[in-house]
Amino acid sequence: MACLLLAAVACRPASAQYHVFWGDVHGHTSHSDGKGSLDDYFTYARDVSKLDFVIVTDHDFGNVAPWRMPKDTWTLTQNMADKYTVDGSFVAIAGYEWTSQPKYWTEVGKDAASERLFPGPPKFYNHKNVYLPGRIEYLVSAKDPASMSPNLLATAVLKHGGLIQNNHPTAGSEGADQWGYDPTYCSVITNTEIDADTLLYEGKTYEVGVERTVRGFLSRGGKTGFVKGTDTHEGKPAARTAVLAKELTREAIFDALRHRRNYAVTNARIVLSFKIDGHEMGEEIETAGRPKIDVDIHGTDTISEVAIVRDGAVLHSLSPGTEQVKFTYVDESFQQNGYYYLRVTQVDKDKHGDLSRAWSSPIWVKSKVSRRSSPSSIGHRQE
Ligand SMILES: [Zn+2]
Ligand SMILES: [Zn+2]
Repeated sequence: MACLLLAAVACRPASAQYHVFWGDVHGHTSHSDGKGSLDDYFTYARDVSKLDFVIVTDHDFGNVAPWRMPKDTWTLTQNMADKYTVDGSFVAIAGYEWTSQPKYWTEVGKDAASERLFPGPPKFYNHKNVYLPGRIEYLVSAKDPASMSPNLLATAVLKHGGLIQNNHPTAGSEGADQWGYDPTYCSVITNTEIDADTLLYEGKTYEVGVERTVRGFLSRGGKTGFVKGTDTHEGKPAARTAVLAKELTREAIFDALRHRRNYAVTNARIVLSFKIDGHEMGEEIETAGRPKIDVDIHGTDTISEVAIVRDGAVLHSLSPGTEQVKFTYVDESFQQNGYYYLRVTQVDKDKHGDLSRAWSSPIWVKSKVSRRSSPSSIGHRQE
């Protein structure tokens, strides 16, 4: 298995049932606006970044007129993903980036490169990655009137057994357009790319508000897990998403991503386990008592902060100053329901100067009993 080549900690079982497998869920080749071939992309993922799985996600608009990915390219993408997949060793997945953005419609984009095809949709929805477990004849494009909204896209992808993720949400106007879909589609739009609210890039600081934006969606009742991708345009995928899966097969990777049994990292391969009452991240559970939160983190450097976030605010945090942290926290102030996730920050930095971080997917907890009159609720936040 490829993961045996990694440091032992990267392969540590997250539980008796699941293993941690590392991948990248977002990257481009020269088939859209990136560099290199599909061979280059998959080879780099497998041999240089030592990933367990990778998804290739070229834009659905292709790279040249008529500004749609040619059918031959989509067929080739699927062929190459199949060619590189070796169960138990490396899983390659064919995907694409559904791209709903004004500049790809000449009627509305001021710097558009595309040809006039048809009028743009009444509203744009940013970018979403779509990935498929099996072959489909042609991709479901944002440039097709039958699939130019997230609801239409989700309906079509659901039929094919595929999954969708919300890409690079930011607090800006375009990034905030991610959430325009029916909440019932959380069964197919299962994950969202997460990142810190403040990012460094080439020496400058940017207030992007990513985590804040995602928390806003969660606090409005939205359901999403957390992934991250490099969005490489240089053909260099890297470990940004960890999945908890039983084995290294395409089916098992999809099963993890479908159930949000995944977490995001910005740089270092931080191994973490986050459970409530024995349930894994991504689950929606009911409890008769107080949620018992079990945290087990195997970092790669000194961990400066561990935070349990509940309903948009830090519920509990600590500054361990060690590489490994294990503790149990019982939420005595729990009322009727809430979502929880874990955020980890290490002291090491990536090449831009950003700290290594990790975010578990949330767990949603509902009480089986009404606690509104419970004496222990005095002094605590009411739902
Ligand atoms: Zn994008
Ligand atoms: Zn992209």
